Amino acid sequence: MITAGIDGIDRSYHLPPLGHNPSSTLAGTTPGSFARPPVILPGVEGARTFASPDTPGMPGVSDKTAWDFLPDGWSVTMMSRGMPTELAQPSTEQAVILFEQADGTAVQVTYPKVFQPITQLESARLGIITAQMRRVSEREPHLTAAQVRDEVAAGRMVIPANTVHLGHQLDPMAIGRSTKTKINANMGASPVSSSTDEEVEKLKWAERWGADTVMDLSTGGDLDACRDALLRNSSVPIGTVPIYSMIIGRKIEDLTLELILQTLEHQAKQGVDYFTIHAGVLREHLPYVRKRLIGIVSRGGSLLAKWMLVHGKQNPMYDHWEEICDVMRQYDVTFSIGDGLRPGGLADATDRAQLAELVTLGELTERAWRKGVQVMVEGPGHVPFDQIEYNMKLQRQLCHGAPFYVLGPLVTDIFPGYDHITSCIGATAAGYHGASMLCYVTPKEHLGLPKKDDVKQGCIAYKIAAHAADVALGIPASRDRDDELTKARAALNWEKHFELSFDPDTARAYHDEDLDVDTDFCAMCGHDWCSVRISKEIQEFSSGKEDEFQWDRAKVSAALTSDQQEILEKRGVLSPDEIHKLASKTKKAVGAVESKASCHSDYVDDSSAKEIQERELTLVEITTP
Ligand code: SF4
Repeated sequence: MITAGIDGIDRSYHLPPLGHNPSSTLAGTTPGSFARPPVILPGVEGARTFASPDTPGMPGVSDKTAWDFLPDGWSVTMMSRGMPTELAQPSTEQAVILFEQADGTAVQVTYPKVFQPITQLESARLGIITAQMRRVSEREPHLTAAQVRDEVAAGRMVIPANTVHLGHQLDPMAIGRSTKTKINANMGASPVSSSTDEEVEKLKWAERWGADTVMDLSTGGDLDACRDALLRNSSVPIGTVPIYSMIIGRKIEDLTLELILQTLEHQAKQGVDYFTIHAGVLREHLPYVRKRLIGIVSRGGSLLAKWMLVHGKQNPMYDHWEEICDVMRQYDVTFSIGDGLRPGGLADATDRAQLAELVTLGELTERAWRKGVQVMVEGPGHVPFDQIEYNMKLQRQLCHGAPFYVLGPLVTDIFPGYDHITSCIGATAAGYHGASMLCYVTPKEHLGLPKKDDVKQGCIAYKIAAHAADVALGIPASRDRDDELTKARAALNWEKHFELSFDPDTARAYHDEDLDVDTDFCAMCGHDWCSVRISKEIQEFSSGKEDEFQWDRAKVSAALTSDQQEILEKRGVLSPDEIHKLASKTKKAVGAVESKASCHSDYVDDSSAKEIQERELTLVEITTP
């Protein structure tokens, strides 16, 4: 409880129980996140790791994990601390292994003697820490390699790393609740636009702007060559929707099981790390779609719905799921089980069609785990803000914590051209309430094929969403860079300010557009109204001068680079010529060319400054704890 009020009236208040402080620096002094304190434990006990507090009425966590869905011939005994850890006596066809989990408890697994692990999930089940798990723990320093293994074994984390792609440039990463929130960038040529070279350029651009995975959604051009080029050039996992290739040059009605398995095998052999397969759309679900405003908006979902109606049969992907699993397992391709009935507008969100499919996605998750295949599950789409938490927590329950990979969701439908913003608001809430990966939306969503700059805008919007969720969830050290930037901002240290920015070129260009000198204020408020400058003066005056960052004179900033000029040009406000003229005018106005800027706060000598401060700042009282 905090007691407040100096007038004798009780205005005390309580802070709710706090999670972890997302800053690891001493400057991270304010309360930590309000999310649950991180408890990274194997099994069901770890199901609420980095989870938002549940609003009353939200679905709870599942009481099962991937350990409850082992292949035939397998069994597991979880040993609590202090239990005798003697090996069971297996039959002649079986082997037994006992290993210690990250929390010190032991697991005993019995499995067929002839079994050889291929997937990350299978290795984790045998207690093996793979090279990819070690790499993940290097990239996510708040997790040990043993914790990564335990999360993979529980099914709450996937490492999409096709064994073929590992032979190229893939840098293994993980998607799960205990890791930082990831973002995906979609790309791919369409029948009317783009080429393989352009897609590879967009891939590099997406990696530059922080995409953690990339999906090749090509439906035009040379699909095979484009996929191959992306796989050879990417350091991030590549996902595809293989049904697109299955129907190139033929009608969906002609889709056969043989074609499905052949296409999957071919793409798996090429090195694709994860497949979106819309196996959850069932015949029984189709009547629920009739009342929707916009029907089925998933390409894969609508194609398979048509196939079922034409043939009067069940979804072949659902019926032959186990055969599909066998192909995926051979190369450790991860499932991204598609949400073919995701809502395409706010009015269709959380409806019977969407939720009936989600129940099936839970069933498919269990069946894939029994085949040793890693699973993540795809989610909506377009969801009103207030329904996002429910959607995330229902998936967590029905799919037993398998990572949720959501598209957006958009929280309003009336901003075409700005859907990277409408969806990034929903994505932030989704990340906070349970999604592990956020599929970006670009300004071109619903309107056309994203170009290079749209890829950048989409990536940045989603890096903001993912990072905001990580800070709120209290993921250790996630706020460090924010705190460093705040310190640079408080010190009016522009160089550091730009350096710590996610997009330094844009930050520098926007600053220099108005004032291309580094002085201790900026053009937003101007010298006299710069609260940061005044605050700095107050602090220096009350606690002795800081040595760390001192202004000696206004510094003329480096001239705008061509990239920075382009940024300003694209804003459509000023041409490079106009910027140049404005910059020269500004320099002259502040006297920065010949001498110190006349508006700089250290223009006055120290004794005059002190005298001004004493005269003007007498009402300010500083207390230090
Ligand atoms: S002038 Fe305004 S916006 Fe610029 S640094 Fe000072 S307080 Fe911040």
